[in-house]
Amino acid sequence: MNDVIAGLVRLQEMDKALDALRQQVNRVSPRRADIAVRRAAALAAQEQAKKALVDAQLSRKNKELEIDAKDGAVRKHTLELNGVKSNDAYRALQSEIDAAKKEKIFLEDQVLVLMEQIESLQKAAKAGELEAQKVKTDLDGQDKALDAEEAEAKSLVETKKTERDAFFSGLPTEARSRYEAIQRGRPGFAAVVPINNLVCGGCRTAITPNLLNQVMKEKEIITCEGCSRILYIVAKPVAPVASLDSVSPSTGPAVVSEAKAPAQ
Ligand SMILES: [Zn+2]
Repeated sequence: MNDVIAGLVRLQEMDKALDALRQQVNRVSPRRADIAVRRAAALAAQEQAKKALVDAQLSRKNKELEIDAKDGAVRKHTLELNGVKSNDAYRALQSEIDAAKKEKIFLEDQVLVLMEQIESLQKAAKAGELEAQKVKTDLDGQDKALDAEEAEAKSLVETKKTERDAFFSGLPTEARSRYEAIQRGRPGFAAVVPINNLVCGGCRTAITPNLLNQVMKEKEIITCEGCSRILYIVAKPVAPVASLDSVSPSTGPAVVSEAKAPAQ
């Protein structure tokens, strides 16, 4: 592979790595939103438990006020009994007293039920508060980790972008403009593709012997007739070294493999 094509392949790898980092940055926002949703849900559950307790307590208070009113009615009618002149009036008052007493007993039963409910609602509210606190601590931690992850990814994007731009400026003008014209800033779009089994690694169009010949000459940038991507031949991988022990790392020859993973 000539230096220009090798440079473009390297540039493409840098762009790909940069895209992956940018995607990582972009994924932070929805993850943060998800945490906010879970935070709101935990808070809502806690509020609901509190409200159920307050409602039950209020209901009990009202029932007790009603009981007091029934007691008052019984006392008032009992006093009135002394002043009645007729049997009918007496019976009428007595039946009102009986009715008030009955209603009072009914209300007292309801208060007992409410008291049991309040006890379990108090437990639920307390548990809900603890749970909400636990969830909040957990989500605070997740938010903080996300902030750190985002800051790191953003800073890495800056570093990699600077490296990429510096590398890009070092490439020949024509190669740069050809690459940009094909790539057109599309994230993940491969502008430089290998020829695999005599087809274009980008669009699978068969490569004519003439085109293959031109690519193999490595004299100029050759593009696919089907998709206009820049074509290259993957160098044959260096034969695996039988035993690395036989090659001293300090004095032995450097084993350089130019094999590249096929571009998408
Ligand atoms: Zn093609």
